[in-house]
Amino acid sequence: AVSAAAIRLWLQKSADVLAEKRAYLTELDSPIGDADHGNNMDRGFKAVVATLSDKEDVGAVLKAVAMTLISKVGGASGPLYGTFFLDAGKPFAGKAELEPADLVTMFEDGIAGVKKRGRAEPGMKTMLDAQIPAAEALKAAVAEGKSAVEALKAAAEAAEEGMKATIPMQAQRGRASYLGERSIDHQDPGATSSYLIIRALADAVA
Ligand code: ADP
Ligand code: MG
Ligand code: MG
Repeated sequence: AVSAAAIRLWLQKSADVLAEKRAYLTELDSPIGDADHGNNMDRGFKAVVATLSDKEDVGAVLKAVAMTLISKVGGASGPLYGTFFLDAGKPFAGKAELEPADLVTMFEDGIAGVKKRGRAEPGMKTMLDAQIPAAEALKAAVAEGKSAVEALKAAAEAAEEGMKATIPMQAQRGRASYLGERSIDHQDPGATSSYLIIRALADAVA
């Protein structure tokens, strides 16, 4: 099972990689956005880490993450990632650990929140294009009886492929959509940060 401490480690590792990739994420957001995605994510997750303390309640940890992202990160990604963590954590209030099937629920509920909030579907060149393949791979691996570690590795691989698959897409949501066809041939910044965050979860649990 995945402990609350492992979830906290996930968030710490996410903050570390988002800090490390800050310039890269902002560079991805330059041609098809307003060149702030790396700054937004780094600022948000630095604030998240400051709220982590030693909570043993997975739901409470994820809710605190959501509240911090919603209040500290502006633009599209703050409310969307905030919604992801808020909805991801709701079923786990008072729970000290997650079973592999709970990880599937966590992703599916978080994704449902993002879809609703952003009125977005797969193929629109958004963070969902990394998140949804990851959730599908996770679900398939768990159904095959794989461990949480193995299932999350499969999820991270699928997220990476999903991220790359945003390159030829034309954006249909967010600032990049204003560019129409000129949004083609660029990797989506939010799909990239989602991949990094999902890989951080696989690393945290390994
Ligand atoms: P902003 O565009 O407000 O500057 P960011 O640059 O931090 O915000 O985040 C941009 C990312 O947000 C995009 O790359 C995309 O992945 C994601 N995004 C934007 N709009 C939506 C939406 N409606 N649904 C899902 N994701 C979205
Ligand atoms: Mg931006
Ligand atoms: Mg912005």
